[in-house]
Amino acid sequence: MVRKKVTVVGAGNVGATLAQRIAETQLADVVLVDVVEGVPQGKGLDLMEAGPVLNYNTIITGTNGYEATDGSDIIVITAGLARKPGMSRDDLLAANGNVVQQVAAETGRRSPKAVMIVVTNPMDVMAYVAMKTTGFPRERVVGMGGVLDSARFRSFIAMELGVSVENTHAFVLGGHGDTMVPLPRYSTVAGIPITELMSKETIDKLVERTRNGGAEIVALLKTGSAYYAPSAAALDMVEAVLLDKKKILPCSSYLLGEYGVKETFAGVPVKLGAGGVEQIVEVKLTASENAAFMKSVEAVRTGCAKFM
Ligand code: NAD
Repeated sequence: MVRKKVTVVGAGNVGATLAQRIAETQLADVVLVDVVEGVPQGKGLDLMEAGPVLNYNTIITGTNGYEATDGSDIIVITAGLARKPGMSRDDLLAANGNVVQQVAAETGRRSPKAVMIVVTNPMDVMAYVAMKTTGFPRERVVGMGGVLDSARFRSFIAMELGVSVENTHAFVLGGHGDTMVPLPRYSTVAGIPITELMSKETIDKLVERTRNGGAEIVALLKTGSAYYAPSAAALDMVEAVLLDKKKILPCSSYLLGEYGVKETFAGVPVKLGAGGVEQIVEVKLTASENAAFMKSVEAVRTGCAKFM
């Protein structure tokens, strides 16, 4: 059997934690790439040395080059700067745009059949940069944001109601930024919409906390941004592709008319399988939900325009 290969570019907090999570699942070998000499090699070796204790046989290769990434099944891009207190995701635009262009060009050329999962912020715009740079079809470039935002919303719902997170399901659409659109109508506990379980004031409070979920962690950590939940969310997407799960997940996808939006990335429910985004699932939005979604899309479009 040929082992699957996942390349994770960026051996920082999100990238290295994702490498660990993939190693522990044993679903694929991991190539961890970073520009800083020694860091991906050191973290890769450290992860290999955890294998005997945790009983995994995953091979993790740390490198500053791209040769070892050849023929990857999935490329996850986490390279770039993370937010510091007071910074919005958009503040990262120019610096990370250059990084993603360079990384996407190298990895895309070496793994022309890969599914590319973009994590670097501002993620929706970076996904656009990766798609433009590689020339990959839209099915094979997808952004991670909605899975994380939904996980945050789910956590807050479970904390509020004192129920298991396993009972919760949440829906967050739009760009992965301050204008994201959590949808309470489609968010449920054991199948019951939360609109029947909580007052509007409580829901509004949880929605606001979800929107600020990333900033809340940045303000606490002070020297970096969240990475445990982001790497878990990225793993969910990696697994959906490697196992051809056809899992419906909120992901950033390039829209070509779906939701009345053309030629920009936005977070929507997609069916994720071996082919990447195999379907974009369209749900009906109310007038106010649609207005919030469109506002969020415009914010992404403005960012993309800088790379056209
Ligand atoms: P980090 O600073 O810990 O790691 C980033 C790594 O990228 C560093 O090790 C750095 O050396 C490396 N890097 C920089 N330029 C590179 C290049 N040209 N090639 C290869 N590697 C390069 O940051 P982090 O916390 O891991 O976050 C990584 C990115 O992910 C940030 O942009 C952050 O905002 C974003 N992020 C997105 C989400 C999301 O939901 N989409 C969630 C969390 C973090």
